[in-house]
Amino acid sequence: MNRVYLDFNATTPVEPAVLDAMLPYFSADFGNAASIHTVGQRARAAVETARDQVATLLGARSQEIVFTSGGTESDNHAIFGIIRSTPGATKHIITTNIEHEAVLNTCQALEKDGIAVTYLPVNSDGVITVDQVEESLRPHTALITVMHANNELGSVQPLAQIGKLALQRDIYFHTDAVQSAGKIPLDVKTLGVDLLSISAHKLYGPKGIGALYIRGGSRLQQLLYGGHHQRGFRPGTENVPGIVGLGAAAAILTHERDTDAHRIRDLRDRLLTQLQDMIPGLKVNGSLSRRLPGNLSITLPGTDADQLIERLPSLAISTGSACNTGQAEPSHVLTAIGLTRTEARATLRIGLGRPTTEDEINTAMHALSGALHDDALINDPLAL
Ligand code: PLP
Repeated sequence: MNRVYLDFNATTPVEPAVLDAMLPYFSADFGNAASIHTVGQRARAAVETARDQVATLLGARSQEIVFTSGGTESDNHAIFGIIRSTPGATKHIITTNIEHEAVLNTCQALEKDGIAVTYLPVNSDGVITVDQVEESLRPHTALITVMHANNELGSVQPLAQIGKLALQRDIYFHTDAVQSAGKIPLDVKTLGVDLLSISAHKLYGPKGIGALYIRGGSRLQQLLYGGHHQRGFRPGTENVPGIVGLGAAAAILTHERDTDAHRIRDLRDRLLTQLQDMIPGLKVNGSLSRRLPGNLSITLPGTDADQLIERLPSLAISTGSACNTGQAEPSHVLTAIGLTRTEARATLRIGLGRPTTEDEINTAMHALSGALHDDALINDPLAL
């Protein structure tokens, strides 16, 4: 069966050069990076090289990078860390209503502890404005957390403008850059962020490893308690192969990001034009200009996206519903931009990545339009 993978927002394959870089740290160079002997020090050196590589990708200094277990931990660390280290009983957070659950559920957990949270509504393009942020500021606003790019729409938020406001008002500013890092230009100083989350498995590195950028001099309580690893910011024996993998992936994308983006955007736009020609009524969700190069969210009115995808088992793409406790709930992102539940259920998220080829795009396009046009179709046209 030929498989076409178009779900690069969900996860990415480990780049072969990344895997090669990681392998020695499972065997020959297996040392604990906290050990003082030479075996440990080889692992330590690899961790510090990776820290430099991640810092370079983000325009940060190495000592501002803390390795974590992924995007979820980085988001939790940033949000809990700022709130817990902010003095006083009254505290307020500003965020958006389309954040990933790693941010939304963390904010909701804090609401139970009496922290006030404003969830700014996005417009139909999936973006907020700096004016909305300014209007929601309160005397006790301790943190603004706004994602860089959305995982479903690919919509990109005006972070640099929000960063300027946060700096003027002396409020901590965090961004979840899990989807954008390595895909679009990202420089922590240009964006004006104090904290930024990334995850390796979204950028051709391994799963279970990520990083949090913490601007030097930030006041941030640690999330985990234990030993003195990573200067106490994040205790726990370092995941050396994972860290090396994240570093290697960051190094590749530092050099190849713009070339990738150009090629992937081109393929995405071609796919969209062809789909629009073949599927009347197709609707694109979110802005086409302010979006990640590889992302496409489309609604095919009158269809049930889950059923459609079930008929195309060799096509790996996501739908607009998330399985929650066995119930397919429409995505909070799609309803936030104004889609009805029915429209959300008729929505596909297509994510192109570095390995995506023109042939794959053509195959996917024909499979999709074939499945939509042929009511009697019960077989997957890709299953050769
Ligand atoms: N934030 C965003 C925007 C994401 O897309 C994801 C993963 O889907 C996460 C956070 C969570 O990252 P991780 O899977 O590394 O915990």
